Amino acid sequence: MIHRTRPLVAGNWKMNGLRESLNEAASICKAVAAGGAGKAEIVVCPPATLLMAVTAICEGTKVGVGGQDCHAEASGAFTGDISAEMLKDAGATYVILGHSERRAGHHETNEQVRAKAKAALGAGLMAIICVGETRAERDAGGALAIVGKQLASSIPDNSPPGRIVIAYEPVWAIGTGFTPTPQDIAEMHGFIRERMNQHLPGQGANLRILYGGSVNPANAAQLLSVEDVDGALVGGASLSCAEFMAIAGVYR
Ligand code: PEP
Repeated sequence: MIHRTRPLVAGNWKMNGLRESLNEAASICKAVAAGGAGKAEIVVCPPATLLMAVTAICEGTKVGVGGQDCHAEASGAFTGDISAEMLKDAGATYVILGHSERRAGHHETNEQVRAKAKAALGAGLMAIICVGETRAERDAGGALAIVGKQLASSIPDNSPPGRIVIAYEPVWAIGTGFTPTPQDIAEMHGFIRERMNQHLPGQGANLRILYGGSVNPANAAQLLSVEDVDGALVGGASLSCAEFMAIAGVYR
């Protein structure tokens, strides 16, 4: 496998994890230190309640930590929200933005995702921005158009090089066990690279484009070897160190 950039395997724990899950974070750090992820960069995105404890565990290791969302403002009267500055202060280096569960469940628009991404970049975080079509949109032949629109409206202009990561996550593949064909993934990732090269001139070649949606130890080798796939955003399988490392182990 030839990679233009260092691959990234990020685990999205979603709204899962109690204090006992800190053992999984510690096991991931241990496995990465032992070379289990090869040349891949590893990031864990726990729920906010565990963020500081996970950053404490990961401190001094090669495992990074990310938030799962942030507010577009730095502070203020936004009950229940967390700002990019707060994530940074808690030790995070990444934040996932525009996940389809937030777009659907919290009605987040592309414009809101872009405002959050600006805030994340301003706070010094790396932004993993999620895009992806629904099953109905793909069946209607509109997958590229939908993702093109999401990219155009969600990615801040003039984002500094290397600070944006795109995660292509077809909504219908998340948590379902279904995945697109390697051909469909290659087509979409090539399209994203081309569009991003126009949006952020000259940055397309080194942009990391992750695939996300039902990645597991059994399909990781095939999915991660697809052209233009620079890593994975992993949901369910990232809750278990063994499964997460079996996926990242593709890059050994
Ligand atoms: C996700 O939620 O980002 C995701 C990819 O989930 P899963 O791996 O469980 O499909």
